[in-house]
Amino acid sequence: MFSCFFCFFALFLAAGELVPEGQLSMADSTPKSVKKPRWTSLEIGLITIVCLLFIVIVALIILFATQNSGESMDPVAPFSAARLLENMDSKVDPCNNFYEYACGGWLKKNIIPETSSRYSTFDILRHELAVELKGVLERQDSSSSSALIKARTLYKSCTNESLIEQRGGMPLLTVLPDVLEWPIATDNWDTNYGSKWRAEDAIARLNEKYGKPVLINYFISTDDRDSNSHIIHVSPPSLSQTHVCDAYEQFMTDVAKLIRADRGLEVNESLIKEEIGRIISLEQDIANATDTSEDRNNPVLLYNKMDLGDMNLNFTLDFLLNWTHFTNKIMETVNITVSEKEDVIVYAPNYLRKLNSILAKYTIRDIHNYMVWRFVMSMVGGLSKAYRDTRKPLQKAIYGTTSEAAVWQQCANFVNSNMEYAVGRLYVEEAFSKDSKNMMEEMISEIREVFISNLDHLSWMDDETRMSAAEKARAIQERIGYSENIMDDKYLNQEYQELNYNADEYFENILQTSEMAQKKRLKKLRLNVNKDEWITGAAVVNAFYSASRNQIVFPAGILQPPFFDKGQARSLNYGGIGMVIGHEITHGFDDSGRNYDKDGDLKDWWTPSSTQEFQELSKCIVNQYGSFSWDLANGQNLNGNLTLGENIADNGGIRQSYQAYQNYVKKHGPEKPLPGIDLNHEQLFFLNFAQIWCGTYRPENAVNSIKTDDHSPGEFRVLGSLQNFPEFAKAFNCKPQNAMVPKKTCRVW
Ligand SMILES: [Zn+2]
Repeated sequence: MFSCFFCFFALFLAAGELVPEGQLSMADSTPKSVKKPRWTSLEIGLITIVCLLFIVIVALIILFATQNSGESMDPVAPFSAARLLENMDSKVDPCNNFYEYACGGWLKKNIIPETSSRYSTFDILRHELAVELKGVLERQDSSSSSALIKARTLYKSCTNESLIEQRGGMPLLTVLPDVLEWPIATDNWDTNYGSKWRAEDAIARLNEKYGKPVLINYFISTDDRDSNSHIIHVSPPSLSQTHVCDAYEQFMTDVAKLIRADRGLEVNESLIKEEIGRIISLEQDIANATDTSEDRNNPVLLYNKMDLGDMNLNFTLDFLLNWTHFTNKIMETVNITVSEKEDVIVYAPNYLRKLNSILAKYTIRDIHNYMVWRFVMSMVGGLSKAYRDTRKPLQKAIYGTTSEAAVWQQCANFVNSNMEYAVGRLYVEEAFSKDSKNMMEEMISEIREVFISNLDHLSWMDDETRMSAAEKARAIQERIGYSENIMDDKYLNQEYQELNYNADEYFENILQTSEMAQKKRLKKLRLNVNKDEWITGAAVVNAFYSASRNQIVFPAGILQPPFFDKGQARSLNYGGIGMVIGHEITHGFDDSGRNYDKDGDLKDWWTPSSTQEFQELSKCIVNQYGSFSWDLANGQNLNGNLTLGENIADNGGIRQSYQAYQNYVKKHGPEKPLPGIDLNHEQLFFLNFAQIWCGTYRPENAVNSIKTDDHSPGEFRVLGSLQNFPEFAKAFNCKPQNAMVPKKTCRVW
């Protein structure tokens, strides 16, 4: 289990299913007849911002030079000041609504591009990162190691629009027999396939070869109670909200019709409609049988260990005769055999219990129709425009987007997420300065010390738990920038040695990528956990905490302004990356992370009374965030339980980082004021923190993410954590009657 600072698309990426703008696969938003490249609204927006910033910076440099003749000027200061001023709205009272104050300027100047479901400081950084990746992936460099050449070939195949168009739906049609066909899109399925159909073979095939978990999510991962070993996990599939949309039905219908037409088969609308109705009803039943996402956050409740023999006794599904046979079928591909004694963790026994009666309502044709649909829907992105366009109504319904991101952008992101080491290497060589590392190490050590010394003042904890907490905090390992391995050609080449991409075969390259990734995951069953291995690539604008490794990770992609810059004022670094550091450390002690000990094992190190106090204090945060109503989601309230872990982490992070900054000032003296901005450094700390969260959502996506995202929307990450922190009110001289100073405040860490 790991928590990230901002995983917006986690739900979709985990399932490898329908992925919104630019995360996976192909798109074509430019009509072929338009030869001259036109600016997109995103580009126009960015250009306007760059122009405005340029004017402000020049003015600030002049102002600063005339005010401080003789004194040396921090070269980054005018840039920082310009950025902060641009984004804020100083007409708003910071004590009334600090988010409006910090982000009012940003909100007035930015419009969500047609291709995006959300637009924020993060998205802008991610867009810029994709631009960098485009540059390095398009570069011709024959001296590169084979891994880097493979990354460029994969990118090339993905951007080869004319060839992808020419191939139409053929690559998918060719592969369908290998997954025992999609009944709705072929004739005579019942005689050709149905008569010898076995559920375990069909599920196993989609899993082992294509990495698509259907009906049952069967995977190899770290054993929560023995974090050095891997173990088989069985859990319900993660389903998105798609089954509720009419647009989903339309999507499925359009794809089925396209395939039948491409195969020269009769397209009988009413037959298709009838079959699709049953597929959707099956998916609805499955979604209803899965536990709510809050339950899925509790690692103790999820952990049910047994062996395959027990599974055969307790969870025999009518359609799945033998779990040992099923497991061997999957593991065959990596030459591993298992016996009845093989251990398994069953994440949701209730789901398995319900599955029998659900499936009894459907025919094997319905079940196979559903399973292969999940595969087909994840693959249409690699096909021609006619196929890709079938997703549009659904993307509009869930994300509110009306067009897809530029092809290069989708492809850069696709190659990055599938070859993260190789792309990470290209990125750090191009855009990362190694000397950030020392300063990061220093900040991490200071913030960790603050966390530990604060434990002494937490009256709700008893000494025993306090000591274990301090021990756990000291044991947290840190990873900064990138793994040294990626700079080693031999390591990189070996990592990707089984891949053999062809620049003309994008679709087949996608399949090859998932097959290799799946094999790598399955092989782990007989390997120890390598805790030195990085859990993320380097070209990523995010940060992570891994509970089973007790590790915090700050990839190179987040070590840039506004989060961090060696030259920018320390107040801004502490408000930026400092807060992120504190946030990740605190994840080790949130409602989920606190269940793991200093070695990353799921083990209760709490006394019952401290546990009870923790739960009481958590309730305060649940209620506080649960009472925020979000205008963009039709005024719905946030889900305080779903977002609890992230909110605890935000609240801890802002406090620890602020204190660490105070310690820094005590040690090194106060910093020079920033030019042209009438705020002291305490105020700047909070301003930079808040501006990280400037952003807005399309209403469709707000409604969707309020149900699925375990992070609160940026606005409430700012308001919630600052309302709870008295130092904020002090820094801005807020009065008890102000909105930013509520009567009741919450604090856990
Ligand atoms: Zn987080």
